[in-house]
Amino acid sequence: MKPDTPRHAAPADADRRRGIAPVICYDPETLPDPRLGQLAPRRALARKTDEIIVPPRDARCIEVPAGAFFRIVSVEGPQVGDLNVWNRHDLSEGFYSGKTRALHGTHLSTGDRLWSRFPNLRPLATVTDDTLDWYGFDAFGGAVHDVIGTRCDPYTGRLLTGGDYHYCCHSNLTRALAAHTGLTRAEAEPHVHDVMNVFMCTGFTRDTGQYFMKASPVRPGDHIEFLAEVDLLVGLSACPGGDCSATHSSDRAACHPLLVEVWDSGAVARADHVTPAPSGYDRSHGPA
Ligand SMILES: [Zn+2]
Repeated sequence: MKPDTPRHAAPADADRRRGIAPVICYDPETLPDPRLGQLAPRRALARKTDEIIVPPRDARCIEVPAGAFFRIVSVEGPQVGDLNVWNRHDLSEGFYSGKTRALHGTHLSTGDRLWSRFPNLRPLATVTDDTLDWYGFDAFGGAVHDVIGTRCDPYTGRLLTGGDYHYCCHSNLTRALAAHTGLTRAEAEPHVHDVMNVFMCTGFTRDTGQYFMKASPVRPGDHIEFLAEVDLLVGLSACPGGDCSATHSSDRAACHPLLVEVWDSGAVARADHVTPAPSGYDRSHGPA
């Protein structure tokens, strides 16, 4: 946080320096077009082929073939989900929340991609529908589906409170990934990464720049839908914060399950899907 009383006096041209207009770091016009319009025929053919209920304060994994869709659905009550996404054939290619934020902004919606870690940096998934797109940014600067938070975890809990809580999203995702893959929890944990906070309403306070959360506007029946750009393993935790209106990392908040559905048009209709190629950078990092 910036100090209330700076220790250094402002220079004479402080106002001029502060008044310089910002420029957008990454022009979204230069990103590959997600071609959402071309997906419509395949989406229309899709049928639900798989689904899983994520219990409150727990996580589950589900596989989605490249070219199919998956949908996270609110059921029973307002609930936030912490989403991890991996290349199913290579867990080291996970979702890169920070670069996704730099490319698309703090909160995602239809047309935004979930980019993968270096050295691949390619879309793992594309948001194809979002029933909360009407929310936009509220008067507090809050919006839904952020890529600014990390995930609630037992390490920060211990740092701040001295206590241990095992049903944070980080631990939930670790258990779910281990159970799905057969890895031990110790082997699975390093693959758990910063999340997309599905349905969570967050922002930064305008005066102090602090990360805030507020009650999610999600209601049963709302969903966010993604196209799997590569063969995916999807992990979702139903956060112990519930709708994240007050607290997390404890058993105090009211929590609800989340539903994950896979919608697939079948291998024939999926055949026109082109899996994005990994980055073409040669990884030389300059002459030796
Ligand atoms: Zn959480």
